[in-house]
Parts: sequence; C-alpha cells; structure tokens
Amino acid sequence: MERIYNFSAGPAVLPREVLEQARDELVNWQGCGMSVMEMSHRGKEYMGIQAEAEADLRELLGIPGNYKVLFLQGGASMQFSMVPLNLYRGKASADFLDTGVWSEKAIAEASRYGAVNVVASSRDKNYTYAPTQDAWQTDPNAAFLHYTPNETIGGVEIFWTPETGEVPLVADMSSTILSRAIDVSKFGLIYAGAQKNIGPAGVTVVIVREDLIGQTLPGTPTLFDYQLHADNDSMYNTPPTYGIYIAGLVFKLLKDRGGIAAMERQNLLKADLLYGCLDASGFYSSPVARENRSRMNVPFTLKDAALDEDFLKGAKARGLVQLKGHRSVGGMRASIYNAMPVEGVQDHVDNIKEFEKTRS
Ligand SMILES: *Cc1c(COP(=O)(O)O)cnc(C)c1O
Repeated sequence: MERIYNFSAGPAVLPREVLEQARDELVNWQGCGMSVMEMSHRGKEYMGIQAEAEADLRELLGIPGNYKVLFLQGGASMQFSMVPLNLYRGKASADFLDTGVWSEKAIAEASRYGAVNVVASSRDKNYTYAPTQDAWQTDPNAAFLHYTPNETIGGVEIFWTPETGEVPLVADMSSTILSRAIDVSKFGLIYAGAQKNIGPAGVTVVIVREDLIGQTLPGTPTLFDYQLHADNDSMYNTPPTYGIYIAGLVFKLLKDRGGIAAMERQNLLKADLLYGCLDASGFYSSPVARENRSRMNVPFTLKDAALDEDFLKGAKARGLVQLKGHRSVGGMRASIYNAMPVEGVQDHVDNIKEFEKTRS
C-alpha cells in the first residue's frame, strides 16, 4: 500500500524523507557499523548527533545563548509537574490561563505544589475561544504565568504572545512549536512533547532561561530538576537516543526547506484551504472563534452527526485516516502539522466537498 494521509493529533505524521533516511541508516549509521539505537550515549557518534540536533533547533527558533535546551522524557504531562517543582522558587502562587483540556491538566498538577490563580477561563463557552489579556486577573507577584498557545483537542490557538512583565511566561507548545515564528526571549520556559510536530513519542523538548533553574522545591525528585539535566547536557541518565536522532533529522529537513518562516507560510496556506472550504459550506461548521482557529488542529462538525460514521468510512477508503474528533468535542478533527503535505489537505478538502454534494 502507498502511504496514506494521516491526520492523527499525535503521535502524528512524520516527513517521508526523514523516515526514508532513517530506514537507509537503520542498521549502519554513516558507515560506523551499528544502528543509532545501539550506540552508547557517551560515545562520540551519538554525542555528535545530539549536539547537532540541539544546534539546529537553536538556529531554527533563534534561541538566545542564555537559554538551556533539554531533551527529556515523560512527555508534556511530566512537565505539568516539573514546571511547578522548579519554578515556584519560594513564591506563593502561580498564574494559569485556562483554555481547554491541556490547560486544565497543567492547573490540576500545579495545585499539588502551590497556590494557583486562574487568570481567565474559556470554559463558559466549552473552550471554543481564548480570553484576551485585557480580561485576565493576573497576580503581579506570581511565580510564573502558564498558558497553552495551542489546545490540541479544542483546536484553539493564541497567535499573540502575552505580556507578563517580570513574571516568567511558560508555554506548553506541544502542538504548535516549529509551526510559526516565535520570539523565545519573551518566554521563561517553553516545553513540547515531540510526537506532534517534532518527532517520535518519547522525547520532550524544554527550552528554559538559565536564571530560572536551580531552585527546586524541597523533596523534588532528582530527575525532576532542570538544573541537573542542564549541567549534564541532558545525559545525566540515558536520554531517548533514537527519538532525538529522528528529531534531529526533522530539524535538518526544516532548515533545508527554508526554516520556520517557510513552514509558517505553508501552514497558513493549508489552514486557509481547509477553513475556507468549511466556511463556504452550510453542511459543515467549525466550532472555534475565528481569531483562535488553530493552524495545526482543525475540529469541524457535520450538520447531522448521524453522518459522521459514513464520512469517516468514505475518507478512509480514499486514504485519509485518523479524522475522528476527540470524544470531548465530537465531530471530526484534522491535525495538519508541518509534515502534512499540502496535497494531503487538498485531498481532504476534495473529499469534504464531494461528501457534501452526495449527502445534502
Ligand atoms: C499531547 C499534548 C500533551 C500531552 O502530551 P504527552 O506527551 O502525552 O504527555 C500536553 N499538552 C498538549 C498541548 C498536547 O498537545
């Protein structure tokens, strides 16, 4: 079978070129006689791979020199614990913006370690928009402000960067990192699980300003201390070596394709294509406020939910898979990360139009 178009929210589509290169190098990496999977993480081959991945990520995102880049495990969910354990730093309370399922989980976990002030929530409208900053009730003494720039399940994205003054800004960028330009210097800490827009599951990228680390809460487990990982170049214990290697191949490919600016242009094009098609129809609708429509995760509903199963069946027959929406939202969801080609979105759009024609 030819490759299909996979709209999964994560683990998600990877660039074909990367998979093919990994295949070619699988048993014998660059003539060294072994697979990357078999290498000691302390050996010069693997250390080179990881150093290059970090350098390429730094270049892609323009990460300033006073930020550490860490490759950790445990997923974005582990960061829900690591962020509070490291960033409360003796302060009483932290600010959180609540825009959906992932914000809620971060809030619930942080409240085990300190007081939490929810600055605003869009729960009142079933998480279909993001409250603008003029409506937030912030605490000027907050240890940090945490938000989720792209809620992967609700498909709600915030395209502006909050202004938090001296309060460090923390962002869960799991499903938006590398999709558009960001100014890293505006953030205290950025984290992202790899399996959406970076590489395979098992790697978590953390970008953190140096002065914020080294002040963990008493009782913090050793492995939850950012300082320890920073001091050991993410090699205090065995890092997820193969995942970091694949992430490195993705970073190289993005550089070859023109970097983040080129990805952003292509992501805009794909999102416009899909939302344009949904808007032009009375048969489908997008639940999300226009200014917060995610470029990465596009939920949409059919006028008649009884047709959902037929829609999914027809899509699958054309090689368009993983389009079923999250159970908390219903309908459909198309995740169109960097690695989803424009042709995949075009096929999806054609199918949407044809289904409407035959069923309305
Ligand atoms: C997927 C996701 C998570 C959870 O990631 P895990 O790696 O499964 O822990 C957290 N936040 C966001 C925004 C996500 O998209």
